[in-house]
Amino acid sequence: MSELRQNIATKEWVIIAPERSNRPDDFISRDRRPLPEVPYSDRCPFCAGNEAQTGDEVMAVRDGDGRWLVRVVPNKYPALTSDGELDYREQGTQRRINGLGHHLVIVEAPQHNTTPALMEAAQVERVLGVYQQLYLQAIGDPRVELVTLFKNHGQRAGMSQQHPHSQLIATPVVPANVRQRVELAIRYYDDHRTCVYCTMLAEELRSGERVVAESQHFAAFVLYAALSPFHIWILPKRHQAAFVHISDEERADLARLLRQVLRKIFYGLENPDYNFVIRSRDGQPRAVSYFHWYLSLVPRVSTTAGFELASGMYINTLLPERAAEFLRQVEA
Ligand SMILES: [Zn+2]
Ligand SMILES: [Zn+2]
Repeated sequence: MSELRQNIATKEWVIIAPERSNRPDDFISRDRRPLPEVPYSDRCPFCAGNEAQTGDEVMAVRDGDGRWLVRVVPNKYPALTSDGELDYREQGTQRRINGLGHHLVIVEAPQHNTTPALMEAAQVERVLGVYQQLYLQAIGDPRVELVTLFKNHGQRAGMSQQHPHSQLIATPVVPANVRQRVELAIRYYDDHRTCVYCTMLAEELRSGERVVAESQHFAAFVLYAALSPFHIWILPKRHQAAFVHISDEERADLARLLRQVLRKIFYGLENPDYNFVIRSRDGQPRAVSYFHWYLSLVPRVSTTAGFELASGMYINTLLPERAAEFLRQVEA
């Protein structure tokens, strides 16, 4: 029999219906194109050597010889642009703002044929450091209300360039689903005087059933109410509301753990498409006791359809405990 489960932090319900597809290895991707064989493509704007094909460099991390290791450029087809003043208008039922914000591409490596799962941990750490710097810059813009850092890996995840990259979009509004997460966290804090994410994390570590990997400062687990197979959250163990507040030591630790989890997915599920997104408060100096930042990782191993669209409720055909057990066993 299937089971409905609720994520206590987001209040999202999911239908866990494992009888429709029982085994974790049913989700190994079969139609996936392999990574490119060579580290350079003359048609790729993100490859080392093709720098002239992008807009002006926003930032770069370079090695001792001046060669870039991580490079940030404006998105060629930006969803939002950064020039001008905010213009908010309402007329009857129509409310609109001009498309101001930031849309940046973080090129994660000079090589075309790699992905974070295959990079050195030090390279993943550099990328995370760039995320931190970009986040702080973007949130410092008074027109910006929300900064979103995310990665699309593979076509099913919405990737348009094969070269390993992630993106930052800074928006002048906070969308309803983000606002709701914050409001739910505040309500939980009011009722229990503790952070809902800390509570969840403590429970997951105590039971261990859904834990995929753990490091000194972070833990990765498949959600009890995972919306799809292998839906994973990575949380800092110490209460921390903003991603930008991680220390150098925590960043190195996170890089190792994130890489490890991505390798488990890469080898265990044969390089499936995936998205990850960092959900964080904005890093104001005042301590925020109710919210806890996290990285949400969603391998694109199943498809969503009309029911999900209509109800916002997902059907997950793999038991989260089995997904976690499978990934724990993958050497990475
Ligand atoms: Zn490339
Ligand atoms: Zn917390």
